[in-house]
Amino acid sequence: MSAPSGRPEVLWPLFGSLESLDGIGPKSAQALVAAHIEKPRDLLFTLPHSGVDRRRRASILEVQAPAVCTVEVTVGQHNAPSQRGRPYRVMVEDAQTTFQLVFFRSHGEYLRKQLPTGQRRVVSGKIELFDGVGQMVHPDHILTPDEAEQIPLFEPVYPLTGTVTQKAMFKATADVLAQAPDLPEWIDPALRAREGWPEWNAALAQAHRPMSSAELATTAAARQRLAYDEVLAHQLTLALARAQQRRGKGRATVGDGSKQREVLASLGFAPTGAQVRATAEIAEDLAKPHRMNRLLQGDVGSGKTLVALLALLNAVEAGGQGVMMAPTEILARQHLEGLQPLAAEAGVVLEILTGRDKGAERKAKLEALEAGDIHILVGTHAVFQKDVEFADLRLAIIDEQHRFGVAQRMELGAKGAAVDVLVMTATPIPRSLALAQYGDMDVSVLDEKPPGRSPVTTALVATSKMDAVVDRLRAAVAEGRQCYWVCPLVEESEVSDKTAAEERFKRLRAALGEGVVGLVHGQMPPSDKDAAMRDFVSGQTKVLVATTVIEVGVNVPNASIMVIERAESFGLAQLHQLRGRVGRGSAKSTCLLMYQAPLSETGRQRLEIMRETEDGFRISEEDLAMRGAGDVIGTAQSGLPRFRIADLERQTALMALAQSDARKLLLDDPTLEFERGTAARTLLWLMEQDRAIRLISVG
Ligand code: ADP
Ligand code: MG
Repeated sequence: MSAPSGRPEVLWPLFGSLESLDGIGPKSAQALVAAHIEKPRDLLFTLPHSGVDRRRRASILEVQAPAVCTVEVTVGQHNAPSQRGRPYRVMVEDAQTTFQLVFFRSHGEYLRKQLPTGQRRVVSGKIELFDGVGQMVHPDHILTPDEAEQIPLFEPVYPLTGTVTQKAMFKATADVLAQAPDLPEWIDPALRAREGWPEWNAALAQAHRPMSSAELATTAAARQRLAYDEVLAHQLTLALARAQQRRGKGRATVGDGSKQREVLASLGFAPTGAQVRATAEIAEDLAKPHRMNRLLQGDVGSGKTLVALLALLNAVEAGGQGVMMAPTEILARQHLEGLQPLAAEAGVVLEILTGRDKGAERKAKLEALEAGDIHILVGTHAVFQKDVEFADLRLAIIDEQHRFGVAQRMELGAKGAAVDVLVMTATPIPRSLALAQYGDMDVSVLDEKPPGRSPVTTALVATSKMDAVVDRLRAAVAEGRQCYWVCPLVEESEVSDKTAAEERFKRLRAALGEGVVGLVHGQMPPSDKDAAMRDFVSGQTKVLVATTVIEVGVNVPNASIMVIERAESFGLAQLHQLRGRVGRGSAKSTCLLMYQAPLSETGRQRLEIMRETEDGFRISEEDLAMRGAGDVIGTAQSGLPRFRIADLERQTALMALAQSDARKLLLDDPTLEFERGTAARTLLWLMEQDRAIRLISVG
């Protein structure tokens, strides 16, 4: 493994080979690598998860068997087995009682040497009671009283992989600990003093060689410090990305509010307080000369589109243009239909561009865009194609981009268009994850829903009750209600999704009547998809059978029933998104989560959370607690590093602290030159944040 140029020499031993460590041979090294422990550094950050108390006792009677006990004994009689397969027993006596040391398949000669009758020995191992008699089977330690100091009072227990033993882990970690260099302190001294955190080296020593189980807790000072190092390195990377973004020349875009006012006046409602706040935050960013990089987070139905429109109008008022990209064609069309008439009220030209625009029509749109005759463009990713040129693009909005990772944003920033960027997401994610994932951005939150929403009643129904569900649906349709019917993801394959949806479509059409049921799935020709959506929006069809293409953003206020088949196969966040499609009008809404019995215990718990609450943040917290960070946002996509010590589920406060600390450090020392800055560089190397280091060097 060759060191990338620049890695400080003090760190080299930590990036060498595992086999150079005590206790690690080629086979163990292989097993460790398979468990993502590839270098001494990784081992250093692999901490024991529990410990064994080996403090010396006067007698085994002091512990409650079965338990590990360490006592000094006088060795008594040896009882060699009378038959093959029977154990070899050695009687011993401690200060208060006698018990037996038990050995299977051991050589008597060896044992007589280890445990000579009449001599004193310290033994340590698990005491069990067998017919009321204390037994210690294969003691972990047998030492003379002189040697007994070697037994750690509290022995760390490591997570094991493959054939690697505790002894090997102990030896190897002892070796790395001995090699761990003295490093300059990168944590703010005031913070370290306030938290009572040890220095790096001392923290490692304590974390690997705890003296009690209290020191194994995530809240122990040493572990907190090491966790903080990890999240600080990550937040520094994000802060560097953010600083680089902001350095990029931006333009001050200041609107006069005139077009915003016209549009607001033509709306039938007033913006919520949260919408007003977010709009102001965005306007403030736009007005600054550096590039905006802001996230607008708001649960489904919180009204992000209006905030987006107001921001786009701001750009237009300043004489510029804006663009909004949606993840699907359906959503892009919906934005066109919802926003075009509003924009027109203010004399603003809003157009759509998607992959479906071809030939002369596309050419005409591109020309109008380049001439500045189109003020706002909505569309799919087609809006970012190379030949799409704007007269004066000021603002780019990316809608429903909950899967846009840190790495991708860093690339977008590096490309360097001097455009303000607003990313909108409806995935409520817990704050610790938001900080980890979006720490490079500034965040606005819509934490208030527009008034007049009625709660959605959620029920769990077994698939076996399908006929009853269809009967109820027939009655609801007769009352003029509309329903989404979502078919499950079958093994992530679009082809089988389609088959499942088509099958359900046929059966519902047979049950409810021709013309009442529509179908939309990802494989349909675009014009058929549009037609199906249009028929549903206009109320011509009452039931829309769909795959998850309707997951994000679609808005049909009259739809008040959501049926989700095989709900247990969806993620909670996805169920929440789907359910968010109903409860948008004033009618009472229902969500039926259909499941295939029998549900697993956690499967049931998850669905019950959906029944209990409509609070997206609470749902995501529960999801995080049940599944872990990687599963909730997909570690690979999010660009989240693999934290070895920090625990995203429980250490929100550390993450928040690291964010403000990292930003402040960069503010004081943008190129990380001063004492703490230089130390922070070492931290970045230690934490393998190579991308971040590249960001400093270009600075
Ligand atoms: P989302 O945040 O999920 O994208 P939308 O922007 O689609 O939500 O808004 C959902 C619905 O709420 C739309 O029909 C929209 O017109 C309506 N809406 C938005 N803001 C308000 C408000 N302040 N008062 C009433 N209705 C609103
Ligand atoms: Mg939306």
